[in-house]
Amino acid sequence: MLAEIIAVGSELLTPFRQDTNSLFLTESLNGVGVTVAFKTIVGDREAHIAQAITVALGRCDLVFLMGGLGPTADDLTREAVAAALGIRLKRDGDVLAALYKRFAERRASMPSNNTRQAEILEGAEVLPNPHGTAPGQWLDIVFGGHRKLLVLLPGPPRELKPMMTEECLPRLREALPPRAIARRVLKIAMLGESDVDARIAPIYGRFSDVETTILAKPGEIEVHLLCSKAILEVAQGRVNELASRIEEEMEDAIYSSQGEALEEIVLYYLQMRGATLAVAESCTGGLLSERLTRVSGSSRAFQGGAVVYSNELKTQLADVPEELIEEHGAVSRDVAEALAHGVRRRASATIGVGITGIAGPSGGTEEKPVGTVYIGIADGKEQTVVERRFRGDRERIRYLATQQALDMLRRKLM
Ligand code: AMP
Ligand code: MG
Repeated sequence: MLAEIIAVGSELLTPFRQDTNSLFLTESLNGVGVTVAFKTIVGDREAHIAQAITVALGRCDLVFLMGGLGPTADDLTREAVAAALGIRLKRDGDVLAALYKRFAERRASMPSNNTRQAEILEGAEVLPNPHGTAPGQWLDIVFGGHRKLLVLLPGPPRELKPMMTEECLPRLREALPPRAIARRVLKIAMLGESDVDARIAPIYGRFSDVETTILAKPGEIEVHLLCSKAILEVAQGRVNELASRIEEEMEDAIYSSQGEALEEIVLYYLQMRGATLAVAESCTGGLLSERLTRVSGSSRAFQGGAVVYSNELKTQLADVPEELIEEHGAVSRDVAEALAHGVRRRASATIGVGITGIAGPSGGTEEKPVGTVYIGIADGKEQTVVERRFRGDRERIRYLATQQALDMLRRKLM
């Protein structure tokens, strides 16, 4: 079953507003086994909206229109549907009465514009809107000899979401053959997209009934698996089987298979081992601490840290010997290691992390170009330092440094 979502609103064609409703609708539709094949965004012009509707009905069984159901002159979705289908709009007495009642309850008189919202398409079922004035409309029609569903929903997300959940989904479950969708998201840190794909494409290629999508983010690859079947257990079985094959291939490169964030995984391992963590951050300026403390309950394992941007503070707060900085430079393997040891001892933590690097755009040298980052990890017994050369702007380099540190922590704790 294929669906098209049409977002109506000229504001959605500007750089200032984005269509977010379709993300929610897609998730809801996937949940009842419907695949979204097309999304269209169209401005507040009746002829354009009508065109979009005709095109959508020509290629999909289910068409969701949202927005343009308001009372003002630029709200033209109702009229556009009437024009596209050659049907009439009729003022509905019950809807009109409900509108008057809604205004009366707020001790306001209803502007005459609002009566437009009582205009219902011939043959449509009214979808009540307890959160706003525009009711939705549900049309079960024959178009080009095929049965189609055309649904009109209000634009404001706080009205659209409950209407979709409470009114549309129960109707769809009834109208559609039972379909269930299973998903998994596997996450991989610090590997390239093409590396990952080269290794897993031969595996997912053999699962033609599981849709595999690879999503690249800075320092992270997500592998999304989705399978739609009549029976949920069967769909889950296929997704789980493919996930295990990929996990076998990628081994410990996969840090999460249930959608958890990398920092959550690190905190989970720390707690499992009864270990604590302290960090000394230079070029990341506290970003690592920020990411860790964003997770609720992080205080059980994360003690805190210091932003040691100047050489003096590296010495004062993390006991990095002045001579070491003079000899090797603040951005060096030795200083990263000393930061990790120093902050660990100062905090009496199990593990210390030190980060020092050049985030740019200035400050690079031939020997240590922008993007050079050293990350040290130390516990009482051993230490590791890695040197990385990250590419990108300041923000990306700082983020990748924290991502690398978290992935090193994860591998150490695994
Ligand atoms: P309308 O029903 O066209 O009057 O839309 C009312 C309001 O809903 C707009 O001003 C937007 O703030 C919001 N809205 C409309 N369409 C969308 C959409 N596709 N995604 C997110 N918000 C929307
Ligand atoms: Mg609008």
